[in-house]
Amino acid sequence: MKHKLVIANWKMNGDFSSNFSLLKSIVAFADKPQNTQIAVCPPFVYLSQVYDLLESSPIALGAQNVGFAEKGAYTGETSASMLQEFACQYVLVGHSERRTLFKESDEHIAEKIKLAVAHNQTPVLCIGETLEERASNETQTVILSQIKTIIDKVGSEVFKSVVIAYEPIWAIGTGQTATAEQAQQIHALIRAYLRSLEPILFDEMTILYGGSVNENNADELFAQNDIDGFLVGGASLKAASFEKICFAG
Ligand code: PGA
Repeated sequence: MKHKLVIANWKMNGDFSSNFSLLKSIVAFADKPQNTQIAVCPPFVYLSQVYDLLESSPIALGAQNVGFAEKGAYTGETSASMLQEFACQYVLVGHSERRTLFKESDEHIAEKIKLAVAHNQTPVLCIGETLEERASNETQTVILSQIKTIIDKVGSEVFKSVVIAYEPIWAIGTGQTATAEQAQQIHALIRAYLRSLEPILFDEMTILYGGSVNENNADELFAQNDIDGFLVGGASLKAASFEKICFAG
């Protein structure tokens, strides 16, 4: 049975009361799905609340972003060392919403990865193509160059600590999931590419799928050889849907 990682990306959603009831439900089933690591990435202001509620549960805490510097005059940012104080195990980096809406650059993404790894966090590097890129048959080139750009900046030694999340941009929050075949094709491409670079470092790479994952498509997606789990947005806010996704496969 392959190991599965399911990460809830709450994005800019939640409040004290809904976080409490959602986590209560997740904690209640979290030790049951076999070979599955569950992680929750709340908005920063709720890290403390979620940290307390997850105590003594097998659920890992994650952050949706991290600052690109150790500390200093970076208004609005949160550093990897601050996240370490909350025992954050995962950090999302390069999510398409951050790349597009907040103009996050490859340079910053690379710095974030280095800092997260230095503070014992697993960076989850999000990559994906737009609809236009898919329509013009550029998906493979775009995906591989997104990975290569980052490896060139951080080096393969650091990159071996990274989890990759393939999130086709046209599938995020749209209800339009990649078919299992489309997702598997890209996951296999990513794995083959990494193995071709350094088989010893990248043989065990974890590659998640994200983009409108829900309780109806998770089984088929997880059945694909190269899909090791999910990064879940909308469906992670509904306990019943998220539970089914965690049990997929
Ligand atoms: P979605 O979001 O599941 O709502 O499509 C996924 C993500 O953006 O990580």
